[in-house]
Amino acid sequence: MQLARTPPPSMEALLYHAQMQGILPLTSRCNMQCIFCSNAYNPETCEVFTIPPRRLEEIEDSILWLTGSRGPIVIGESVTRITEGEPLTHPEFPQILKLLRQHYPDRIIRVTTNASLLNPELIGLLSELEVELMVSLNTVGHREQVMGDKQPESTLRNVEGLGGKVRFEGSIVALPFVTGWDDVSNTASFLKESGAWSIRIMSPGFSRLHPLWKDAASFDVDEARSFSQDLQKDLKIPVLFEPPGITSVTPVVEHVLPRSPARRAGIRPGDVITEVLRRRVMTRTEAFELIRDHEKPRVAYDRQGVLYETVINKQRFQPSGLVMYDDLDLEAWFEWERESRVKRRRVLVLTSALARPVIEDALELRGLTAAVEGVPSLFFGGNIEAAGLLTVRDFLAAYSEIAGQGSEFGAVTLPKRAFDPWGRDLEGVSYKTFEQLSGKAVVLA
Ligand code: SF4
Repeated sequence: MQLARTPPPSMEALLYHAQMQGILPLTSRCNMQCIFCSNAYNPETCEVFTIPPRRLEEIEDSILWLTGSRGPIVIGESVTRITEGEPLTHPEFPQILKLLRQHYPDRIIRVTTNASLLNPELIGLLSELEVELMVSLNTVGHREQVMGDKQPESTLRNVEGLGGKVRFEGSIVALPFVTGWDDVSNTASFLKESGAWSIRIMSPGFSRLHPLWKDAASFDVDEARSFSQDLQKDLKIPVLFEPPGITSVTPVVEHVLPRSPARRAGIRPGDVITEVLRRRVMTRTEAFELIRDHEKPRVAYDRQGVLYETVINKQRFQPSGLVMYDDLDLEAWFEWERESRVKRRRVLVLTSALARPVIEDALELRGLTAAVEGVPSLFFGGNIEAAGLLTVRDFLAAYSEIAGQGSEFGAVTLPKRAFDPWGRDLEGVSYKTFEQLSGKAVVLA
């Protein structure tokens, strides 16, 4: 089906929007060729933009746009339509970091890197400027095959050099059908021994155009999740699996970092946060952010049916040491309740299969009724499931099936993250096209 596409916004508008969210795009160039890179094997009509290394003066001129968000300043993570490469390939990377720290002395600055271009001088600077890293290591034993790393020993030495100097997390895209589970386990152990405070293990996501998508489709997510839990027990640091497979918004604590304010306050993994600042909390994200954003927050928690109360002795915005999965932004949820008028009319929520149980749980907690359906990705296909990668094409296909069963809805909710700020999906098709073709009002949330 041909769907009308609307013209893309200017690069300046895209950069403005990214920076207002705390994301600083630097360059789309990369010195590796990972077999799982999300920048490759996309359908032809997928709208992504590549940028050369941005000039230092341009970054300086637009640096105040970063004040639009309160959270960390993020570099090198692909979360917008601008393809992110390896930030350390930027010739002025050290100067950019100094500029950022000068303007934002108190913000967390987080850089995602493949670590191949680190050196002792740069590690010293990262340490001095208190920049945090997400080291995308992925494998210790199959680096050339998986990432195209021509100097694997050098990269691994760089990671070892971070220990005790730079705060960092490690990430692994799990490809057991290429490397075997032993390599995933060895990579996690190597990261821990090199000083990583936490590890993220990610399920591989391949479109139908990727030669490995059938192997990825056979990836057993439940097996991978329990493998990660076992690793967490062995390594005694947080090992988080993505997607987490959460089915409720209950504010469960996954891990508590050793010697952290939360640990000193007595909170343990498995505890459920019930109140923060004497206010009842509904979701993990709400509990986590309230604790993060306040000084000495008073917290009530449930441990195996017994209620406890404590004060987490920390500064405002200082990390508490609690590790929790992200679920629902409560402010956005209440805005959706108002806009969708879910209390007064029948609403259909189209989302990813992964988000469906979480939304159903939140509806139940709020005493609301809505139909929630998980939408498969036809546009990307393969084993892609994320809500942010669904398109109008996918929503229309799911809707026509549901409407064909005779259900009537007053409005349809589509996930906001599937659209850019101009309401365009990854093909450049507006959500208004969905409204025109389905005849239903859309609420983005
Ligand atoms: S290091 Fe990152 S950007 Fe570079 S090829 Fe690998 S996944 Fe892609």
